Amino acid sequence: MSVNLQTPIDYLKGVGPNRADLLRSELKINTYQDLINLFPNRYIDRTRYFKISELQQNSAEMQVIGEITGFKEVAQKRAKRLVATFRDETGTMELVWFRGQKWIRESLKTKTPYVIFGKTNWYNGKFSMPHPDIELVAEHDKNLRSAMQAIYPSTEKLNNKGISNRVMGKIMQQLFLDTKGQFAETLPQNTLDELRLISKSEALFNVHFPKNQELLSKAQFRLKFEELFYIQLQLILKNLINKSKIKGHIFDKVGRYFNTFYKDHLPFELTNAQKRVLKEIRSDLGSNAQMNRLLQGDVGSGKTIVAFMSMLMGLDNGFQCCLMAPTEILSVQHYNGLLELCKPLNISIKLLTGSSKTSERREIHESLENGDLQILVGTHALLEDKVKFKNLGLAIIDEQHRFGVKQRAKLWKKGSPESSTQSPPRSSPREDAKSVLKKYATARPSTYGLMKELQQKNKKNSTEAERILWEHLRAKKLDTKFRRQHIIDEFIVDFVSIEKNLVIEVDGGYHNTEAQKEIDELRTAILNDLGFEVIRFTNEQVIGDIDKTVESIANKLKSLPHGEIRGASLPPHILVMTATPIPRTLAMSVYGDLDISVIDELPAGRKPIKTVHRYDTNRLKVFRFMKDEIAKGRQVYVVYPLIQESEVLDYKDLMDGYESISREFPPDGSGPTYQISIVHGKMKPADKEYEMQRFARGETQIMVATTVIEVGVNVPNASVMVIESAERFGLSQLHQLRGRVGRGAEQSYCILMTSFKLSSDSKTRLETMVKSNDGFEIAEVDLKLRGPGDIMGTQQSGVLNLRIADLVKDKDILQHARYTAKSILKTDPTLALPEHQMILNTYREMSKFRNIWNYIS
Ligand code: ADP
Ligand code: MG
Repeated sequence: MSVNLQTPIDYLKGVGPNRADLLRSELKINTYQDLINLFPNRYIDRTRYFKISELQQNSAEMQVIGEITGFKEVAQKRAKRLVATFRDETGTMELVWFRGQKWIRESLKTKTPYVIFGKTNWYNGKFSMPHPDIELVAEHDKNLRSAMQAIYPSTEKLNNKGISNRVMGKIMQQLFLDTKGQFAETLPQNTLDELRLISKSEALFNVHFPKNQELLSKAQFRLKFEELFYIQLQLILKNLINKSKIKGHIFDKVGRYFNTFYKDHLPFELTNAQKRVLKEIRSDLGSNAQMNRLLQGDVGSGKTIVAFMSMLMGLDNGFQCCLMAPTEILSVQHYNGLLELCKPLNISIKLLTGSSKTSERREIHESLENGDLQILVGTHALLEDKVKFKNLGLAIIDEQHRFGVKQRAKLWKKGSPESSTQSPPRSSPREDAKSVLKKYATARPSTYGLMKELQQKNKKNSTEAERILWEHLRAKKLDTKFRRQHIIDEFIVDFVSIEKNLVIEVDGGYHNTEAQKEIDELRTAILNDLGFEVIRFTNEQVIGDIDKTVESIANKLKSLPHGEIRGASLPPHILVMTATPIPRTLAMSVYGDLDISVIDELPAGRKPIKTVHRYDTNRLKVFRFMKDEIAKGRQVYVVYPLIQESEVLDYKDLMDGYESISREFPPDGSGPTYQISIVHGKMKPADKEYEMQRFARGETQIMVATTVIEVGVNVPNASVMVIESAERFGLSQLHQLRGRVGRGAEQSYCILMTSFKLSSDSKTRLETMVKSNDGFEIAEVDLKLRGPGDIMGTQQSGVLNLRIADLVKDKDILQHARYTAKSILKTDPTLALPEHQMILNTYREMSKFRNIWNYIS
């Protein structure tokens, strides 16, 4: 019997409840399947042993044989550590434990040969190895070892609780024993053959226990391909690639709002980058495809004005627009800013957040539904079911990495008013229309290609009557623009005026049958449902008396209101604004063919933020500097890291820091006095909000915070950003934090505080920050520094969530994967062929546990 890979990890021999809990919480390993997909970060040569005299500073893991000569306990600020002296014939070094000392001391013997393995530190003229893997030489020799030993991702906590790399290896071995190393194939045979990929079982074995370098490379290639293939498949199936296939509202007018604003009220000259991006957005909005655009721009690059002007295009075409921000404080700021811009144009704009009063809400709901309200700004309160737009044309999301995907999907649905209206009685024509629509909606990606083909054919094979009518319509005697053989939802209609929502159908003789009449009625019902009027003529009517036909069209046009474009089931255009600079290659692969606009230029006259690196020992000088700035009327942020693995310690750091700052900056006394805000993740949202508001209003001069301030607050008067333990932050996070200052006219500063002990990566990060203010440059360095398996880095970046592939390094594999996925879906769009059954099953299985959105949000 084969082993079910969905078996909870607790059932694996050697795991047990405690370890299972740790694996779950630290590495998100719940099942056998998850374990098998825990791919090594890298491999090291464990056939090589180093002498202590051969150890190098800044080296990777080393393996040494020697003996412990004695133990001592060293008292530290917070806790004790256990230090063992370890020696071989060439020298001595120290082994260090911060936790589990008692157990370690009791279980280790002196004067007995051990093999130790781990990363070495060079400190105070001596090598030390914290929490080494340690094993009796006698035991060690018994184990089989391949030249390449897998090193698994780990965390501080796992190490401290005794789940060392060796233990991980043993657990993995057990899994291979239990499953006999047999795993179901997930790629079709002809793909394996074409690309010469090794089987799933062979790949999994060799990625965990490589027999040699060649097999390891093959194993990695195959697994990376598979991972990227299924992502691409998902992107294509969910229509995220080739998104031009999703139809959207056409904003083809540039009208009063946009022009008046541009001519008379633009508060400053747009930067070239802003102009370029606006052009890109405008061409999207003017086409008949739904816009799905990512707007990237460094903090302060002026995304808001671009968002506003895009909304004006929506308003000019009779649509409502909304802007959603991740926090209340941000949405209030956006609202206030936009309100100023809206005033001279007489645009109605409202704010909706969790704290809007019931009476305000009611008013907003009403004016949204009847169309009086043009722009709505707010938090995710916008997503509540009660919020119904009359015709939402453009939804803008600010700083999307704070939003989940469900929210994005929900916004999407708000474009369609009838999706929120009450259902009419069952089996009414409208109901039928909806069920048909639903059916089509799910089939859309595959049917659309067919539609296009049909459309081309129809255009070529038009009937005599159609040709005659088209000539008259095209002559524009009617003063209305018509399109021929136009695709509306899932139909190809003969003629349509988009601005009048009028469809004209010319029916051939076969329309006389009862069955065809029924179909025609249904079709009309659906088109009506979509907001179109339909008039029909027979071939005979058109050919017999074209003048009369045109006249009755003209009369119909007169009776229709102008300019209100409905197209009810179309989703709104979506513009996502983010300050997280994602290198283009990366974004393309993660978001599929999502369009990207980049504002890569700051408005003129901005003073670049001065960034310096200071050691903790210089703290007094830093305090003095803060006082000077505060005396000039400025405000200061002091930020502490918060990283899950050592949460308790982090809070202790934060509170210690707060205390010492409170002592240094007293609220009362003879000298200058200070008010301090503190904000961290454990506070209630309302309290956080309150403290942030106090700081924003200038009532407090110092904001002590964890990274909760990373996104958002705009306090132009704040000119100093002090980042504590800066070596523990990722580059992109440092850059984001720095962006909180430099928003006003004053020179701003960022001070990166660290201890003396810095890894070479940390040094590179700090140097990069001091040297560069350019988000994209910083993002590129960041990407180079972070390996694909760097758990902490990925958690913080929030973009990459790949298990084995690396989007930058594996670009070529990605291309193969995309090509293969595309060509399989081209021949078999619904994966119905028997030889694709396995893909479908794997895909379904995967989407159950893992969704493409994991990659995005
Ligand atoms: P972000 O991209 O971070 O959202 P904002 O849109 O908030 O940036 O713009 C930051 C500041 O720069 C705002 O005060 C805005 O009015 C100003 N600004 C934007 N564009 C320009 C420009 N072209 N010239 C001068 N100031 C500008
Ligand atoms: Mg902004």
